[in-house]
Amino acid sequence: HINTSYNKDQNSSSDLSMAEFANTNFNFSWELLAVFKRTFGLRHFRPNQFEAINAALLGHNCFILMPTGGGKSLCYQLPAIVSKGVTVVISPLKSLIIDQIQSLKSLDIPAAHLLGGITSEKENSIYSELWKADPGLKLLYVTPEKVAGNKKLIQVLRTLHRRNLLSRIVIDEAHCVSQWGHDFRPDYKLLGVFKQNYQNVPIMALTATATQRVRKDILHQLNIEETKWFVSSFNRPNLVYEVIPKKNKSSLLEIAKLIKKRFARQSGIIYCMTKIECDNIAFILSREGIRAVSYHAGLTDKKRNNIQMLWTSNEFNVICATIAFGMGIDKPDVRYVIHYSLPHSIENYYQESGRAGRDGDIAYCFIYYNHSDMHRIAKLIELGGGTNETKKVHFHNLYRIVSYCENKKDCRRAMQLNYFDEQFDIAQCIADEKTACDNCRIKHSIKIIDVTDESINLVRAIQKICSSGKSFTFTHYVDIFIGKKTQQVVAHGHENSNIFGKALHWNRSNLEQLIHKLILEGYLKKEMVEIESDILNAYIRIGPEAEKLLSRLVKVSLTLSSKTNLNNSNIDSIEDSTVNPILEEIKEKCYKNLMEVCRGLAESLNIS
Ligand code: ADP
Ligand code: MG
Ligand code: ZN
Repeated sequence: HINTSYNKDQNSSSDLSMAEFANTNFNFSWELLAVFKRTFGLRHFRPNQFEAINAALLGHNCFILMPTGGGKSLCYQLPAIVSKGVTVVISPLKSLIIDQIQSLKSLDIPAAHLLGGITSEKENSIYSELWKADPGLKLLYVTPEKVAGNKKLIQVLRTLHRRNLLSRIVIDEAHCVSQWGHDFRPDYKLLGVFKQNYQNVPIMALTATATQRVRKDILHQLNIEETKWFVSSFNRPNLVYEVIPKKNKSSLLEIAKLIKKRFARQSGIIYCMTKIECDNIAFILSREGIRAVSYHAGLTDKKRNNIQMLWTSNEFNVICATIAFGMGIDKPDVRYVIHYSLPHSIENYYQESGRAGRDGDIAYCFIYYNHSDMHRIAKLIELGGGTNETKKVHFHNLYRIVSYCENKKDCRRAMQLNYFDEQFDIAQCIADEKTACDNCRIKHSIKIIDVTDESINLVRAIQKICSSGKSFTFTHYVDIFIGKKTQQVVAHGHENSNIFGKALHWNRSNLEQLIHKLILEGYLKKEMVEIESDILNAYIRIGPEAEKLLSRLVKVSLTLSSKTNLNNSNIDSIEDSTVNPILEEIKEKCYKNLMEVCRGLAESLNIS
């Protein structure tokens, strides 16, 4: 899907017509197509590749935005071969560079890198090649630190430029230049000098960043105001998105079952919030016979590299990681990414889940979601320092991802892509049953119910308590409303008040969903209060929009699966929330034994 609508917003001076570049009549066209087929052995261009390659060969600066796995590398590798001279590629990670050189060498394309670890002989031979009148090297890969601090390199680039042999400068993973991006690297900031020093050398910036803010920042930081844009749709059609309610302990056994049943011996990533969580989950999965390993910032570099290598070579199938496990993972056959804790933003989620299915085959992205994870992240933000401004941004991001998780109605692709200002036609998601998101799949089996009356009752009750000057937490209110006599509830005498059991017939999780909705819509609000040094409590108060609800200017509706019955007795859900994995195991065994006994009995009585 070629999408040129971004051009208008982002750079009024750029040419809107892609047709200009979708042309085979340039003087390099014949050679371009020959290299594409013979050297790369490919047959069809992916969306935007052909246009971008032509624009590059015509000498334009190019900004290429394609989702991960979209085929960005070809956009500069192919022009590098067709052009005279050497293309310099800046890439942030050693592992990415080594992978690229390996694949170029396997295609007999002369490429080299100047990474820290190489021998001085090797380095000298690369430099002497670059000094030659006709260098036998087409692509030179370097990290940004190298560009900043290496006189020898700066000198050779200058002479290449003077001799008209510096054919193009490529900045891969260009979002690293922006501190608004998800992977800021300070050394990237220095790359702006290229345009200053070599004004006539075209630049190509490539990234899978989807946010507008970062895109603009990249152009600005790299000094490339005049550029051609190539923006592909960021939809990943082979990824299946699903949000699953997380029940604290039982969900882990559920995940173990899921992996064993659907993803046995296939590669996956489980993102966890803390190091301890990584270790615990890896341990529990291993106990279930799954080859799982933990990966986090608490391990030494050596150990982490080792773990990543073992996972890449399929010695381990599942890596339980914190978000420290990120860029540089270039494993094409990751079949699932599970978020066992809430991602920090929709953008983070897009990037993290995007590590699945790079090979184009179907892959699954699950978020196991519950409200308390939101509280955990909110506390981290609150305690994390930073200015009020940055805290505000973090909270905004958090609320957006929470709304995403709680939304049981809208297409998940559309929600993600709209976040990046891309319009997405949901018919594309619904059309294929195998890849439709959870919400599109069950479109026919949900119901939306009006809960305005219930909402007003709850907000009034909370208002009454707050006006007495007392503050209580989310859980406390839920306990009161469903009529649960906890120690806390009794201690405050709430079991005798007229709000006790106000939502007696409600299932706990539905009630939680409702109260969350009331918070998200501003009828209630959550206030973080420090009760002891460094210990925060989230108290529920009346929100800024409450008056609108109380005077019935607005309605509140709740989206539920059509199977859910609001009048469930809450005994179910209480049992649910206290599932004990060991008890579960025993229950399952008992059940199996019982079946055996029944079968034996049936046989002896001669009935089937
Ligand atoms: P990106 O950098 O955008 O994440 P890559 O350049 O690493 O993606 O390409 C991802 C995969 O797609 C690679 O295995 C590459 O060989 C393959 N690929 C790229 N372009 C094409 C094409 N036109 N036809 C077939 N495969 C392609
Ligand atoms: Mg790439
Ligand atoms: Zn959908």
